[in-house]
Amino acid sequence: MIDITLPDGSVRQFGQSVTVHDVAKDIGKGLARATLAGEVDGELVDGSYSIQSNCTLRIITDRDPEGLDIIRHSTAHLLAQAVKDLYPEAQVTIGPVIENGFYYDFSYPLGFGEEDLHKIEARMVALAKADLEVRRIVENRDSAVQRFKEIGEEYKAEIIGEIPGGEPITLYSQGDFVDLCRGPHVPSTGHLKAFKLTQLAGAYWRGDSNREMLQRVYGTAWPNQKELDAYLHRKEEAEKRDHRKLGRQLDLFHFQEDAPGMVFWHRDGWALYTVVERHVRSLLREYDYEEVQTPQLMDRSMWKRSGHWDKFRQHMFTTHIDDRDYVIKPMNCPGHVQIFNQGLKSYRDLPLRIAEFGLVHRNEPSGTLHGLLRARRFTQDDAHVFCTQDQLREEVATLIDLTYRMYRDFGFEDIEVALSTRPDERVGEDALWDVAEDALAQALIDKKIPYKVQKGEGAFYGPKHEFVLRDSIGRRWQCGTIQVDFSMPGRLGAHYVSEDGKKVVPVMIHRAILGSLERFIGILLEDTEGRLPVWLAPIQVVIMNIADQHAGYASEVEKALTKQGIRAETDLRNEKIGYKIRHHTLRRIPYLLVVGEREVADQTIAVRTREGRDLGVVPLGDFAGMMEDRTSNHGIETIGGLKDSGS
Ligand code: ZN
Repeated sequence: MIDITLPDGSVRQFGQSVTVHDVAKDIGKGLARATLAGEVDGELVDGSYSIQSNCTLRIITDRDPEGLDIIRHSTAHLLAQAVKDLYPEAQVTIGPVIENGFYYDFSYPLGFGEEDLHKIEARMVALAKADLEVRRIVENRDSAVQRFKEIGEEYKAEIIGEIPGGEPITLYSQGDFVDLCRGPHVPSTGHLKAFKLTQLAGAYWRGDSNREMLQRVYGTAWPNQKELDAYLHRKEEAEKRDHRKLGRQLDLFHFQEDAPGMVFWHRDGWALYTVVERHVRSLLREYDYEEVQTPQLMDRSMWKRSGHWDKFRQHMFTTHIDDRDYVIKPMNCPGHVQIFNQGLKSYRDLPLRIAEFGLVHRNEPSGTLHGLLRARRFTQDDAHVFCTQDQLREEVATLIDLTYRMYRDFGFEDIEVALSTRPDERVGEDALWDVAEDALAQALIDKKIPYKVQKGEGAFYGPKHEFVLRDSIGRRWQCGTIQVDFSMPGRLGAHYVSEDGKKVVPVMIHRAILGSLERFIGILLEDTEGRLPVWLAPIQVVIMNIADQHAGYASEVEKALTKQGIRAETDLRNEKIGYKIRHHTLRRIPYLLVVGEREVADQTIAVRTREGRDLGVVPLGDFAGMMEDRTSNHGIETIGGLKDSGS
């Protein structure tokens, strides 16, 4: 008898060995049809895998994340099969699964073009329809090398030749196509129902620029057409909004190889940055923070004491000078404890809220860098609150208010919150964890904010809140955290004198709301597709003259607006007015002011918006009044003296 335990705890018995697929059939016909693979005692296997003894079994279908990976991997094989069918002289190399899809690298000196992609995709559809059985073959290494050499697959032979000799090698075949693979794979090509080839690129064999340039074909694959269509739509929307593209188009910033992961802000990008920073700073004042700044370099011993050196050293930039080792700060917390430690603190000094626009450097792997969204140098809107245990709950409540206020000011209303609780490995008494988790949970409950609990996912030094923003196309961005810390203040010698004269270690709350200013600006750009609300726009108004004789008046208008704190510039080029309007519309400038004969005579301006609405001709003072309304309310549309004709 073989006992097979299923995920729900139920046990099925079989008199002899059975395949994963047989077990699925025993459970139900529908499940058998949907079965892609199995997980036997924690290991992924094919549907055809034969079970010989007692085990636990999970059936994998396209509803499981592993199932989706299997579909994508099998689709990569399907791609290779189609290419070999159509271009027998092409050689196959590797074809891994990546986020949302897969790629496959081919050696094909003639090179593929867009037309080839269509042909290949059509052949893939035909091969999938043919529902070819996918078979697993086990072979020893040398005969596998021989097999691929005989069919002229030099690259495959090279890869297999490097695998240590003892282990048997698994190959998968479908039709007359064979590929090296660990598996598992779908039982037959008919399970591949929704895929698309998306892109061609060049890639060096083994990533080595001294070796051959290969043809990389990218594709995406999903369980069904509906999910494929939804993905393609999301991709198209995301590409339109790619902040790196917008950064170039709007002349906001750039990156270059001399400083990987570190942004060069241009004039307009920096203007945006400073507006964001200024707004954060104004809220810090309102919420009673002390803004400070701490050194960029501190001796390595400080980071040893704080515990960062042992945990994060591979992500730290270091420098050595005059026989001392320094760390370029990856976080601001130890510096803030040094400020707390200046002078004896009493319970009357608490809560103490220390904030910094903390510029940090982290050595992120180069493959993960992604414009402003993942950089090596960024600025946290960081703060640390030092308080007593009794103050924890109220402090957390205030922090949540500030967090929501900040997100709403920047236009984000859809906010998700998670509470991460004590992990198995942790410091601090359970009673302390009870207080902190209760403070974090109760603050959300009091405010009627729904949240999900991430059990055991807190840091070893304390529980935390995580805030996730949803943008205008439904993408989720994790931004803020509120994190209680029972460990660091003690490690770095922080204490205060309590009401009864005792030395007590304060509770420390780490909190960042936007997270990284650079990243948050990337999110803002993608969320708005570069159409920033008026209060954030680097240039809010451009004044254009129709002819040379109106240039003087255009400059006067610019001066008057600038004096009122409006970010205005002129375009006095000798170009047609239609051309200038198009140019600044593409720059996403919120207001385009045109001045000609009549405006000069009447001391007025003709106002258009970047959406192409004509707001008519108005006195300059009326326009300035409306601008003040719009900017002081963070873009909430209050129409001032102007009649908005278009909406
Ligand atoms: Zn911190």
